[in-house]
Amino acid sequence: MTSADTAADAAPASRTHVFEADVARLLQLMVHSVYSDRDVFLRELVANAADACERLRYEALADPALLGEDAAFAIRVVCDEANGRLVVEDNGLGMSEGDLVEALGTIARSGTRSFVEKLGEAGAKQAESLIGQFGVGFYSAFMVAGRVVVETRRAGQSQAWRWESEGKGDYAIAPLPPDAAPARGTRVILHLTEAAKDYAAPHRVEQILREHSGGVAVPIDLAESPGASPRRIADGAALWARPKSDISTEQYAEFYRGLSGQFDEPAMTAHWRAEGRHEYHALAFVPGSRPLDLFDPQRKGRGKLYVRRVLITDDADLLPGWLRFVRLVVDSADLPLNVSREMAQQSPVFGAIRTGVANRILADLVRLADKQPESWAKIWENFGAVLKEGLYEAPEKRDDLLKIARFRSTAHPDGGRSLADYVKDLRENQTAIYYLTGDDARRLAASPQLEGFRARGVEVLLLSDPIDAFWVTTALGFDGKPFRSVTQGTADIAAIARVDGAAIPAAEVDAAAATLIAFFKETLGEAVADVRASDRLATSAACLVAAEHGLDRRLERLLAMGGQAPPAARAILEINAGHALVARLAARFADRDARAEIADAAWLLLDEARLRDGEPPVDAAAFADRLGRVMSKALG
Ligand code: ADP
Ligand code: MG
Repeated sequence: MTSADTAADAAPASRTHVFEADVARLLQLMVHSVYSDRDVFLRELVANAADACERLRYEALADPALLGEDAAFAIRVVCDEANGRLVVEDNGLGMSEGDLVEALGTIARSGTRSFVEKLGEAGAKQAESLIGQFGVGFYSAFMVAGRVVVETRRAGQSQAWRWESEGKGDYAIAPLPPDAAPARGTRVILHLTEAAKDYAAPHRVEQILREHSGGVAVPIDLAESPGASPRRIADGAALWARPKSDISTEQYAEFYRGLSGQFDEPAMTAHWRAEGRHEYHALAFVPGSRPLDLFDPQRKGRGKLYVRRVLITDDADLLPGWLRFVRLVVDSADLPLNVSREMAQQSPVFGAIRTGVANRILADLVRLADKQPESWAKIWENFGAVLKEGLYEAPEKRDDLLKIARFRSTAHPDGGRSLADYVKDLRENQTAIYYLTGDDARRLAASPQLEGFRARGVEVLLLSDPIDAFWVTTALGFDGKPFRSVTQGTADIAAIARVDGAAIPAAEVDAAAATLIAFFKETLGEAVADVRASDRLATSAACLVAAEHGLDRRLERLLAMGGQAPPAARAILEINAGHALVARLAARFADRDARAEIADAAWLLLDEARLRDGEPPVDAAAFADRLGRVMSKALG
């Protein structure tokens, strides 16, 4: 009896497992191969092989015996045209039986998981463009293979395993006789489908490897047939350690794709070497489109941290939350190699790198915004909402962030407006940068509070990202001009000339209007903090604003939704004394019999102003009654 037989007899027989539902869904998509650029499967398998080598390199720091005699990592790709097969082998970490179930039977990676979720929302139609933008890892092998076999042995273990699937809902795992298994690491064998047979052709494979995997940090060898001796086609020298002048735009882009799992072009690349107190290489990319997990509640900035070419973790907290969209590799020369991942991230060296990285990336963003406004506009569109979190969280970065921030405004409804341009175009006597916050940019533009500003040609920023309500209250201003909410305090715009040349209404309202306003105030009582004449209205009769030192009304609503705020403070009702309706009401006030109607009008104006701000009437039933009375009166 051979030793192989003994092992097979002693170990349990092949066991069949059912794929997790999400995997099954993903596989179905792969098998039906909706994605036309199938070359990417090879890049995914090579990336996994490289990851496995890097993970073992790290584990071997603590346990050098894991490497045994074989310390030179390499990936070997073997073409087998005669049998229609392609094999990708590595001498990395390998997988145990449990690893196989976990790694190749479920979807653990959060990126892939959000991909699958998006897929559910989008339906098959958009699947292609999603796959086009985001990598889907190991399962992409089923785009070209009708059967995939994985033979693997985890470093340091004697038992090897064989995983096999046709990608149809289940897979089998069986023990593998030791002499049939790789000494260490993983061999992925693709049985290519008829339509994908040319993926076993050496020239084709070489071309794809050169194109997609040149920057991988482990050398790649290619064997043209199972017996042939392999040729080295990529040397595994880390891209970030090479001089910039030796790297082409396309090589950077490929490296970015491998790093991010996105298949687009990077919108900005920053590659630098820090010298002096701390020495490190860094390579950072701003993605060309939004990553799927951009608004993940964890808001984690992920970076790949190497210490002298050894990958410590691909999940290092190297970026502040407001730069979490950046894809980053840092290779430090100073961090100690023999400490744990957690300890490495607590070291002061790590802190210094983290600061240096954020400073450098922000400086590059500022330069890009200045030199290439069009590229910047796209980046801002994708990531502006995230960068604005920095306005709130990183006061020391606020000036730079305000420089590159772009806004929608009444004068520039499509966005792209910088504060510098805003300030350049200030109207005479304008002393502040005015803004309005709200959830919906379109409704914002129709707010009555804007009327007086429009009539005076005063530009108002329309801020509709949730974070806006927060940073704008803490930012001190820009270029010496404070930020002021158009829905808070007095508008202070009376001194700015109207663009139509109309006379500026006197600051004092006439006696009749003043009497009416006093009556409104008495009628509305506790429902409002005050009633006063307004200079911010032109065509509407009334609007609501917050008190000077209170919270902005929207911020108050946001906080209340989060359960953080005291019950909403009462707002101030502002009345347009120049409005025809107000003038009529004031004129009728002398008639004692009209008081009930005027009281109805006061409540209706208040409720209308609330509705315009997206709030319900004070008392819905009373509102309906009043509206009914007014309508039947109007209809005679
Ligand atoms: P990702 O690489 O993003 O984690 P994949 O679908 O590409 O997602 O791979 C899933 C998991 O399968 C990997 O995280 C890894 O644990 C395991 N795996 C895949 N290929 C290999 C390999 N060659 N060696 C060791 N483990 C592997
Ligand atoms: Mg992968």
